[in-house]
Amino acid sequence: MTTNTLIRTEEKCLYCGGQGYYQLLLGGSETCGCCEGTGKKPKK
Ligand SMILES: [Zn+2]
Repeated sequence: MTTNTLIRTEEKCLYCGGQGYYQLLLGGSETCGCCEGTGKKPKK
């Protein structure tokens, strides 16, 4: 049996980079629809 440690990339939402929102060019921010503001990768 091998001990294999899975190297997981940080479970950050790639859309917003783990912020939960993204900055708009015009100013302000918008909640990321991908992770719904959690900043984490949505699991499927
Ligand atoms: Zn997101």
